[in-house]
Amino acid sequence: MDLVIEGKAYIKGSFENCCIGISDGKICEIKKIIKADKNLNFGNKLVLPAGVDLHVHFRDPGLTHKEDFSTGTMAAAYGGISCVFDMPNTIPQTTTLQNISDKIALASKKSYVDFGVNAGISDNNIKNIEELAKKCCGFKIYLGDTTNSLRFSSSNLKKAFDKIKLINKPVLIHAEEDNCLIKHNLKENNLVDHINSHPAECEEIAVKNILKISRDINTKVHICHLSSIEGLDLLRNHPRNVSFGVTPHHLLFSAQDNLKPQSHYKVNPPIRSNLDREALFDGLKNGLIDALESDHAPHTLREKDKEFDDTPSGVPGVETIFPLFLYMAKKKILSFQRLISLLCEKPADLMNVSKGKIEVGRDADFIVVDLKRGCKIKPENLHSKCGWTPFEGKSAIFPEYVFVRGEKLIEEHEMLGIKGFGKFVGE
Ligand SMILES: [Zn+2]
Repeated sequence: MDLVIEGKAYIKGSFENCCIGISDGKICEIKKIIKADKNLNFGNKLVLPAGVDLHVHFRDPGLTHKEDFSTGTMAAAYGGISCVFDMPNTIPQTTTLQNISDKIALASKKSYVDFGVNAGISDNNIKNIEELAKKCCGFKIYLGDTTNSLRFSSSNLKKAFDKIKLINKPVLIHAEEDNCLIKHNLKENNLVDHINSHPAECEEIAVKNILKISRDINTKVHICHLSSIEGLDLLRNHPRNVSFGVTPHHLLFSAQDNLKPQSHYKVNPPIRSNLDREALFDGLKNGLIDALESDHAPHTLREKDKEFDDTPSGVPGVETIFPLFLYMAKKKILSFQRLISLLCEKPADLMNVSKGKIEVGRDADFIVVDLKRGCKIKPENLHSKCGWTPFEGKSAIFPEYVFVRGEKLIEEHEMLGIKGFGKFVGE
């Protein structure tokens, strides 16, 4: 045995004081007492599974003035995320086998935490889905156009699903219907205009379409960043293979809040009304929503400080997603059971990785949390290259220690890990 971690650990849905034995990066034993040469005792601090963020944009290659795999995965590590799944709208886009291999190679040199790569499906590469499946962890489809995305016509959804259903890999979808977005397109000056140009109706049409096509297949279909009551209502009777995610920014902000500057909060789908926000939060608490995902989409402050209409959509969030909700779990706004299901167990299951649970045989990915150590989020304490956060001033609890495959990456909030430790999880 290489290491034993002792503490108040979250095992099978509740906390118990126990020892976790680690061998070759995996959990090999969980018992009341395990004797070993190397024993780390965290006393009454919480030992939780590390988070899995199924939705990040690390901008690498091609847009590395915003972020790259080293800064993005460093931010993830500090926030208690041991595995991230990168989206394909980089330059070049991750739409060919070669581009997927290149991204895996560059990320393998730079990453602090483990990572997966999703293949982008556009109108032009549907025929190559089988080939892309050799390397990618999952597929991403953008039904509506968003910043630097891949053009996909909703009329092609059935055709793409007919191929994907033969492969045991998930498909993740940005659910805003393109024709609907085109119909409502307008010049935007603020967040309310942005809602009007991206009305809930467009999400509703897309979700209906996805549900219909997903009904008779076994493929795991994940609808990303659900944003509206209309979308949520469609969820009440959905096939078992379909899951839904929400982001912290859709859960914590509404267009009625006095958000300044407005352009910093421009995202797709948009931050909507307070009623939408409350409905999403209820769905989070009562189990209707399956996953939390950051949709970490960094842009520089220079880019986000442009006129609203010229500002790119997206906000950073991989480092703050777990800390924000750990604080809410401490305050009993959300249970630890729900939080761990949303950010650890479900994303790991969806993306087919052996993480997200403290269980024999899984990767030894943990965070150690001292609930007494809360703080206010400050941009200067974060690690994304973009240098700002929409969550400035919010209360959070950052993990004190982070372990990935049994290696201590973060010790007392300081990075011990090295670039290149992070591994591709798809092979
Ligand atoms: Zn995204």
